[in-house]
Amino acid sequence: MGDGCKQMWSARLHGPRDMRVEQVDKPGTPEPGEVLLRTTVTSVCGSDLHWYTEGGIGDLKAKSLLVLGHEFAGVLEEVGSEARDGLDQPLTAGQRVAVDPAMPCHRCEFCEEGHPNLCRRLHFCGTWPDDGSLSEYMVMPARTCFPLPDSINDTEGALLEPLGIGIHAVRLAGVGVGESVAVLGSGPIGLMIMKLAQLSGAAPIIATDLLPWRLEYARRYGATVTVDANENPIPAVMAATDGRGVDVIFEAAFGDETVAQAAEMARLGGRLVLVGITNKDNIVMRASAARRKGLTIKMSRRMKHTYPTALRLAVQKRIDLMEMVTHRFPLREADKAFALNADYTEGVVKAVIETPNP
Ligand SMILES: [Zn+2]
Ligand SMILES: [Zn+2]
Repeated sequence: MGDGCKQMWSARLHGPRDMRVEQVDKPGTPEPGEVLLRTTVTSVCGSDLHWYTEGGIGDLKAKSLLVLGHEFAGVLEEVGSEARDGLDQPLTAGQRVAVDPAMPCHRCEFCEEGHPNLCRRLHFCGTWPDDGSLSEYMVMPARTCFPLPDSINDTEGALLEPLGIGIHAVRLAGVGVGESVAVLGSGPIGLMIMKLAQLSGAAPIIATDLLPWRLEYARRYGATVTVDANENPIPAVMAATDGRGVDVIFEAAFGDETVAQAAEMARLGGRLVLVGITNKDNIVMRASAARRKGLTIKMSRRMKHTYPTALRLAVQKRIDLMEMVTHRFPLREADKAFALNADYTEGVVKAVIETPNP
């Protein structure tokens, strides 16, 4: 599209498995404290797949067209007055940035207490009714932006979001040196957690998955033991801890059975952190196992201010974010990216969508 054009391309979800790339109005100029972004890369997330296949997540349903995309990077096209980034530094047009999709109010009781992920008035890109990044342009609060150094490409910038999810989960668990960790589900979030557990000094790190190729990725991201979950994984996990049980278990799968497995494989007094989003909107585990073991169970809700840490880890090359990227699509084939991911074909781990230039 040429200069002065008021239209842009946008991938909009019309209903389950019905995503259409259409011309829509381009957003206007940014207000004070806002930026106009030209998006460059969006990565597809497991949570997007709930929207894509079911038209919602749990009891939240899209009641109108929805633009997905919450893991993304872009270039600042225009900055409003007083546009300051997530570290309170001034922003200028032309900067490449990673964008935190969460827009907490920063003023409610829960924000003020240091839990912006639980904000009472939270807006979040790609969660109805807030549109996400699968459009050529979008307006965002400046403070959601984190400038990227030259050493970090836009795809890595997008992947700082799932890395942040992993950081939040690992911090919730308080993984310690020499602790055993199991990660149930070796998708992108599981892989992030494994690498972070390794960086935290955990051992052994046990990974499970239903898809054999993902267990190969688990090894590359720090897993020391991999277990095929198509058969009951509990005996193999117990064997990996000499029958003692696992100190910290992360549930990072879509599975409805993985939460129950977590309780069974935990040691006495073990910790469970539940990160995945179950399909049936229920959490089921054997109560007597959880109770007798005195388990600590935590729900991981998105993340807090983890972008600065995520960016530092990427800059320091403590984690290889590019290794998990298996597929790349242009925006006009956004539907293909989601269908591939929803069907778990072609060895997909992480698919990214590149927005065309105007
Ligand atoms: Zn995500
Ligand atoms: Zn708030």
